[in-house]
Amino acid sequence: MLKVGITGGIGSGKSTVTRFFSELGVPVYDSDQRAKSLMQHNDSIISKIKKEFGDNSYQNNALNRSHLAEIVFKNELKLKQLNAIVHPVVRTDFYNWLSQNSDAKFVIKEAAIMIESGAYKDLDKLIVVNANREQKIKWIKKRDHLLLEDIENRIQNQLSDEIRNQYADFIIENNSSKKELKQQVLSVYNKLID
Ligand code: ATP
Repeated sequence: MLKVGITGGIGSGKSTVTRFFSELGVPVYDSDQRAKSLMQHNDSIISKIKKEFGDNSYQNNALNRSHLAEIVFKNELKLKQLNAIVHPVVRTDFYNWLSQNSDAKFVIKEAAIMIESGAYKDLDKLIVVNANREQKIKWIKKRDHLLLEDIENRIQNQLSDEIRNQYADFIIENNSSKKELKQQVLSVYNKLID
């Protein structure tokens, strides 16, 4: 069974592409959502985060996101430490999930950060989703109501499309309608089941 990754810049359309694969019946693992859930419920992660970032990292048993964000977005080392706590547990969780989907021809793992973390090395194929800058900014503004400056900062802090593309087995250019995007997904799907 092939393990296929989907990654791309912020607002490029990763989740939309992943949803299209899911509609085609492909099992999908959303790494970012699973990481959030594990940070909330996994005892080993909870105790390590409290030890590293203070007991106030959780309030009334809920992850105190603003406290953590305050620390890690100002300090790259702290961000690395947080990732070092969370990523190995997500990786194990992914392998457990895989064993429950072993009869699929291929599965999809979506993650915003996949090349930087090295997680792509666990996968057989990588799909990179790109959209042009103006388009992405327009979509993110509409969805998240962020300031232009914040969006530009986030884009700036990510890998460039050029670097991401070097790791890609398939590149999806999301610069037109969702209908056209779906056609590109179908074309990649057909190659993967071949
Ligand atoms: P993030 O990294 O921020 O989670 P993402 O890469 O997963 O984003 P999506 O959530 O799929 O991207 O897309 C961002 C927004 O742009 C969504 O609101 C989505 O509906 C919209 N969008 C994506 N592609 C298109 C398209 N081709 N036409 C119109 N809207 C689109």
